[in-house]
Amino acid sequence: MSVSTIDIAVKKTTESRIAQMDPANIQFGKVYSDHMLVAYYEDGEWKQPEIVPFANLSLSPATTFIHYGQAIFEGIKAYKDANGNPLVFRPRDNWKRMNRSAERMALPAVPEELFVEGIRKLVDIDRAWVPTSEDTSLYIRPFLFAIDEFIGVRPAEKFMFMIITSPAGPYYSKPVSIYVQDEYVRAFPGGIGFTKAAGNYGMSMYPTMKIKEMGYDQILWTDGFEHKYVQEIGTMNVFFVLGDKVVTPDLKEGTILAGVTRDSVITLLREKGTTVEERPIAIDELAEAYRNGQLKEAFGTGTAASIAPIRALTYHEETMELPAMETWDVANWLKKELADIRYGRKADTHGWVLHV
Ligand SMILES: *Cc1c(COP(=O)(O)O)cnc(C)c1O
Repeated sequence: MSVSTIDIAVKKTTESRIAQMDPANIQFGKVYSDHMLVAYYEDGEWKQPEIVPFANLSLSPATTFIHYGQAIFEGIKAYKDANGNPLVFRPRDNWKRMNRSAERMALPAVPEELFVEGIRKLVDIDRAWVPTSEDTSLYIRPFLFAIDEFIGVRPAEKFMFMIITSPAGPYYSKPVSIYVQDEYVRAFPGGIGFTKAAGNYGMSMYPTMKIKEMGYDQILWTDGFEHKYVQEIGTMNVFFVLGDKVVTPDLKEGTILAGVTRDSVITLLREKGTTVEERPIAIDELAEAYRNGQLKEAFGTGTAASIAPIRALTYHEETMELPAMETWDVANWLKKELADIRYGRKADTHGWVLHV
């Protein structure tokens, strides 16, 4: 089945809620677009997907994912180009990642055409919900979860795949202050760190709440054996500019989420001729580079913020203050380059953009 031939049934709403979107004041995640995609998996196969009016679900209290957490998600954005046409950034890469998460969580693989054509068709139907002003987008949230009505512990047999979308306003990337975590652990080799599993977020709420009380914005997670090697920040991958090189933790151990933004950043920098090293990074190496004046920039990458500059990193008693971000070359260049591709202002030489 090719991407364009999948049969998605459409039931359109008769009462659009588009008036609820105030383009001048979009609050992320507060308002959802008119339609959603729903597909059931039963008896070992996917049933016909449907796009229907956005509505509440009705589920048995015994629904398995509520109890045992077999649930994963994705996050993607659609942007409007100068002609008002929506562009979706790298949805196939999110599809591949969703299926890596699905395998580890014993969830069924989602067919490419269901995922990609589902997004295309949903964004097409709700294209009025893709905001037009600079820095705005439509956030797309595909998710997959187990719905057996059974509280016995076993891998489920019935599943639901859904896609909802929500307009996202400009993301003011006020530089963040980071606390290097060496008490709580996000991910171990052999665990689920590389998946976008709901539980990875659930477990992070308490440690994040604690460091916010201390005045920090986000956690930089470290490895669980020695608390020595950095992993990622909150819900973003992390990059450091050390001298004229860019470094980021590698993905070999399976403890880090393979960000689509991370991959885009590495690709763009290497094409520009910048050396990017994917390797273990010890917190001591960062502290030493800081003392030698070699820690030039530090930033997070992810679909929500794109590039999130880091203002300071606190490790034990030491706070490493980064130079003012106006002076940064790498992060500011990346931010602009990514935006130009996403909003269709620059030729898409990588085949990253899906035209709706
Ligand atoms: C989603 C996510 C990222 C960023 O991935 P993108 O594909 O760039 O949005 C990074 N880390 C974690 C833990 C995530 O869940």
